[in-house]
Amino acid sequence: MRILVDEQIPFLADSLSKVGDVVTFSARNLSKEFILETNCKFLFVRSNTKVDKDLLDGSEVLFVGTATSGVDHIDLDYLNSKGIYFVDAKGSNANSVAEYVVFSILHWALEKGSNLCELTIGIIGFGNIGSLVGKYSHLLGLKLLVYDPPLLEKIEFGKENNFPEYVTYCELKELLSKSNIVTNHVPLTSTGNYPTVKMLNKNMLDLIQEDALFIHTSRGGVVSETDLLQILTEKRVSVVIDVWENEPQINSNLVDLCDISTPHIAGYSYEGKLRGTLKMLQSFEKFTNVTPNYSILEKEMQRYVPLDKRVFKSPKLLYNKLKETRKLLEDSFFLKSIIYNTDEEGKANYFDKLRKFYPKRHEILDCL
Ligand code: NAD
Repeated sequence: MRILVDEQIPFLADSLSKVGDVVTFSARNLSKEFILETNCKFLFVRSNTKVDKDLLDGSEVLFVGTATSGVDHIDLDYLNSKGIYFVDAKGSNANSVAEYVVFSILHWALEKGSNLCELTIGIIGFGNIGSLVGKYSHLLGLKLLVYDPPLLEKIEFGKENNFPEYVTYCELKELLSKSNIVTNHVPLTSTGNYPTVKMLNKNMLDLIQEDALFIHTSRGGVVSETDLLQILTEKRVSVVIDVWENEPQINSNLVDLCDISTPHIAGYSYEGKLRGTLKMLQSFEKFTNVTPNYSILEKEMQRYVPLDKRVFKSPKLLYNKLKETRKLLEDSFFLKSIIYNTDEEGKANYFDKLRKFYPKRHEILDCL
């Protein structure tokens, strides 16, 4: 069986090499012609390969895997219409994003000399990432408010377990007005009962407390940047942003006003990538009933020794450890230098480069 693997997915090609005829490719050079020429049946990509009719029509591909959590680059309707099996790596970088949020909270709170036990965090969206942020916030001693109506409905219908006992569920307006820290972890949606496009607009952002911390790591478009900029002229709110409305064309004013601004890298940890590879291997096995070689990946994953959760009792120590390993303040420094780039094209290229050449960064917290 011929398997095409993006060369940047760590350890995937090696792990599959004994069970199939593996050909690696660079995303930049992948074309429909190449796919037809190789007669491949399996295709493993990352977010920089657009998988749609233009790429796959007429091919023999019957399985597509993306080692990423986002699926914006995949035409799911097309894959469905052709009966092509699809798998993503959703949740594999949840811990990476949760660490980013914990770092942002500690950076803000320690600078202000705040007592974490007196603060409330409001979490909008309590899925893979939101619930991990919840777990870590609880360990830090924060009080938790959560808003997630689709999940609440599932819980009420007995389709999901109840919220943890340390969570208080409330409506969005109440969450925004009662929280010292607000963070959102929703997908970007424009349909359904609870669309999230611009859900954090002027009416909602107006409710955020003076001196609060606002963290945005979900998707550009969930927050109205124009409205957020307006709010920042009216009250003191500390802002941390990783995702932007028109990436890679980002708003320099907003980049400048944020305490921490990063180029959509909150999920870019090494361990997150390894979990993405693991998900690809498990899905391949499930689909083919052929067991790939897990040992290479397992060996690499065993190097990850997370800190004991007692570290949450020493916020300053935890802050320093995260600062050292994730280097998010350095990322912010580099992104902020973007605003001195005079033309828009230069800014966009720089944003893309920061992401493309992102260095290896390790997680330190135990997501289990
Ligand atoms: P998930 O699907 O596990 O959780 C999303 C949660 O949001 C669900 O519980 C859902 O019920 C809830 N939700 C949906 N609509 C809502 C609404 N209107 N109001 C409140 N809650 C709502 O997703 P996840 O894996 O936790 O990811 C969350 C977001 O983080 C996604 O947008 C994803 O693209 C983004 N993300 C960003 C990065 C990054 O690098 N910055 C990395 C990974 C994921």
